Amino acid sequence: MLGLMQEWPLLAHTIIDHAARMHGGREVVSRSVEGPIHRITYDEIRSRSLKLSQRLARDGVVLGDRVATMAWNTWRHLETWYGILGIGAVYHTLNPRLFPEQIAWIMNDAEDRMLFVDLTFVKLAEALAPKVPTLERVVILTDDAHMPETSLAGAVSYEAYIGEVDGDFAWARFDENTAAGMCYTSGTTGDPKGVVYSHRSNTLHALTAIQPDMLDISSKDRFMPVVPLFHANGWSTAFSVPMVGATMVMPGAGMDGKSIYEMLTQERVTITAAVPTVWLMLLQHMEEHGGSLPDLDHVIIGGSACPPAIIRKFQENYDVRVMHAWGMTEMSPLGTICSIKPEYADLEGEEKVALQSKQGHAPYTVEMKISDDDGNELSWDGKTFGRLKVRGPAISSAYYKNRGAEQFDEDGWFDTGDVAHINEYGYMQITDRAKDVIKSGGEWISSIEIENIAVGHPDVAEAAVIGVDHPKWSERPLLIIVLKAGRSATKEDIRDFLDGKIAKWWMPDDIVFADEIPHTATGKIKKTTLRDAYGDYTLPTI
Ligand code: AMP
Repeated sequence: MLGLMQEWPLLAHTIIDHAARMHGGREVVSRSVEGPIHRITYDEIRSRSLKLSQRLARDGVVLGDRVATMAWNTWRHLETWYGILGIGAVYHTLNPRLFPEQIAWIMNDAEDRMLFVDLTFVKLAEALAPKVPTLERVVILTDDAHMPETSLAGAVSYEAYIGEVDGDFAWARFDENTAAGMCYTSGTTGDPKGVVYSHRSNTLHALTAIQPDMLDISSKDRFMPVVPLFHANGWSTAFSVPMVGATMVMPGAGMDGKSIYEMLTQERVTITAAVPTVWLMLLQHMEEHGGSLPDLDHVIIGGSACPPAIIRKFQENYDVRVMHAWGMTEMSPLGTICSIKPEYADLEGEEKVALQSKQGHAPYTVEMKISDDDGNELSWDGKTFGRLKVRGPAISSAYYKNRGAEQFDEDGWFDTGDVAHINEYGYMQITDRAKDVIKSGGEWISSIEIENIAVGHPDVAEAAVIGVDHPKWSERPLLIIVLKAGRSATKEDIRDFLDGKIAKWWMPDDIVFADEIPHTATGKIKKTTLRDAYGDYTLPTI
């Protein structure tokens, strides 16, 4: 017997219909790339997205065509997503922080037909265009008054482009499993791999993301995604925030501590989300210049491990709740969030911070397990580490063109490449990337755990730990430290600080002070570069 419920395809652009109908007057506030603060409503966003769909259709863009965007978080970028989705084309976000050759490779792999680009990246687009034969046209996300001189043939301002149609247009209807978006993983080795989201996965993922134990968001909130839309499907914010009708605050190109602080306070933001490096910049700015965050209720921190020092500062100094999150581009991206279940409601002080340093528990739609190298499932005892595997309706079933097929098994599990333990209440903690874990004397040392403790030292700005070859132990940890500007500390100071906080055999064999630690285009510590730089380092313990 079949159920007698309606066939109502989960099409992602119906989310902006809902926002316009139920929360039509709510604003999307952006720091425009041109400079001034810009305000628009969900109702207007929907109308303008419809115009974009109509205009793209006139250019012959059809179901399944890839349309690239290379832009900051602004209202225009949000409109391009919905305009592309609305005719069944595929938004393809490009990370401008990648090397130009990598971006060209990715565009060619995806066979992008059009590119929507911010003023900031026009020069980059000029360099890319000749290398991407499938690219037919570039639209610059500005108005005619701000159009730059450009060598891009046929380039047009976004406002002129959508101004050529009347908006009398209806979204296309198609199967909910149709491709909606593409995002390539930053992969530090080998070619990047294309992740392809569907309308169904984006919609289900947004329904999951808005739960109180996840983003904890409602129409009363003012949400600022600092995480760029080009990083891991924008952490779903383009869907989850309009879905509940919250005000959206878009920081544009202003990603420094001062600009973020201004937007948070002037726009009375209640929830925000970004990687730890962004919050380090904000907290440093506030340490130097003072300030408070009276409206901010909670901050979602993920993308790499959130050091306990950040959790403490937000909660103790500014009364802002931290929700540590883990996810992957392949997971749309949310995997777990560390909200506090009743089992832990009484935790306080350092015990609470220790819990919040875990990446958290998974929602319905994300199944997790940990297994050893032979595929045997390991127990959830909060100690035993294993390879973390996941499955669910918003998790990749394959990469584009079937690259990386070995990461997917026949039972539908995706091997995340992360190493983690999970406790009896389902709280997962990442201990490393499988390739970064330090294998010492047959045991594993978590580089992330040592880094997290080291950045709690008052003079330390950033820390990274890598494994260096050792004749007896196979590998031993080397700690690389960047000190805060104007501060000094010795190796002994750092060792004393770590002493008692980590197992004795985890103590790094040496500590080096560096001017900077390299980062990937999505803000993670680039361990491959560090291993290249320090691979031959001779440890004093040899
Ligand atoms: P990306 O797809 O670029 O977002 O990278 C996903 C990877 O980032 C994950 O597989 C983890 O290795 C890492 N990651 C994301 N969030 C966290 C977190 N909260 N703690 C530790 N690692 C994280």
